[in-house]
Amino acid sequence: MSRKLADYQTIAAAEILAEVHELGRRLSGLKLLHLNSTKDGGGVAELLSCLLPLFNDLGLQADWQAIQGPPEFFRVTKAFHNALQGRPTVITPEMYALYQQVNEQNAKRLDLGADVVMIHDPQPMALVGRRPPGSKWIWRCHIDLSHSAPRVLLNRPERSAWELLVDYANQYDEAIFSLTDFAQNLLIHQHIIPPSIDPLSEKNRELPQELIADICANLGIPDDRRVILQVSRFDRFKDPLGVIEAYRLFKARINHRKRFDTCLVLAGGSASDDPEGQEVLSEVRARAGADPEIHIIELPSGSHQAINALQRRADIIVQKSLREGFGLVVAEGLWKRKPVVATPAGGIKLQVLDGLTGFLAGSAEELADRWEYLLTHPQVGERLGENGYRHIKQHFLVPRELRDYLRLLADLVG
Ligand code: UDP
Repeated sequence: MSRKLADYQTIAAAEILAEVHELGRRLSGLKLLHLNSTKDGGGVAELLSCLLPLFNDLGLQADWQAIQGPPEFFRVTKAFHNALQGRPTVITPEMYALYQQVNEQNAKRLDLGADVVMIHDPQPMALVGRRPPGSKWIWRCHIDLSHSAPRVLLNRPERSAWELLVDYANQYDEAIFSLTDFAQNLLIHQHIIPPSIDPLSEKNRELPQELIADICANLGIPDDRRVILQVSRFDRFKDPLGVIEAYRLFKARINHRKRFDTCLVLAGGSASDDPEGQEVLSEVRARAGADPEIHIIELPSGSHQAINALQRRADIIVQKSLREGFGLVVAEGLWKRKPVVATPAGGIKLQVLDGLTGFLAGSAEELADRWEYLLTHPQVGERLGENGYRHIKQHFLVPRELRDYLRLLADLVG
């Protein structure tokens, strides 16, 4: 069911809603086109599916399209993604040519006639080369660019992934990043807008206990064990193997002291623009082996209620990302008042204030250490969870993000 702004009356701050309505009146009728690389899986699709109905409820004419391309194109864009987030990756001239060619084809296929076009992430970034006159273009980057290769390297024949894309970035009117660490040397204006979650979505709304229990039983989660949960696409940047390593360290310690019955749940699916998912999933399955305490759950797309139930069932939520744009899953866990233990990667640092709204932990040893602490000090977990909920409520719910976009749109179109 399509949500409306009025639905957030009791959840969002009154001044945010008032400003959203005021900006909405000014922007009524504006044609806004969002373009990304998938409608299926991953954080950007999650965000856009929450925001689109609200833009339209305000009277804007918002549309969302995804670019299309052959599997080889998505292997190339995944290579860009990996390289931009700091993994040594070769982008050959042929790969770059395919990237440009598929963007050209999409420029011909898509109707780019909007007042404002917002391009999400690097996959469709080159469409800007075909921008029609008169429209405003915004590049909205969701990924962690703080480890992208050095921007200016002299006497070096090959160009880094960022150097291949930076000329496109400079053809936009504005760029948006999720946190200041990701901003780049650019000739255009840069803005910081952290993402948000939708408290009313199927993924985040309250669920009855019986339903949570039923869903978890169907997923094979034992009802008599403490659950440590990571929900993520099977992606190396989410370090699922590192989570298994941490769990084994943790088990070795607690077995020694014989204190709790626990299990580890790694749940996730894939995104249609991520061709590495199956390979990573196989590695994860191999590493977990026949360990009955490690549950690897492959979720079909659209498993929002199942993720909601798993997060609500969890005793501890973990996010061991090596790189992270924002980490919606962290916000989802905090919103459910769960103790979250996560690495200090990218946007996680905005959400997990160490010792206040969760614990930051970098290594497998630190993770194991914090899990043991939380299980032996449940009142600390409750306090962190409650603080985490308040932190998300104040800063990372969808009306605030909507307001930030509307402010920028109002500035841009006058
Ligand atoms: N998600 C999902 N199914 C999955 C894995 C993740 O629906 O199998 C959701 C997750 O709940 C979150 C989003 O996809 O809302 C992932 O966003 P995040 O920022 O955590 O990571 P990304 O995948 O964008 O790197």
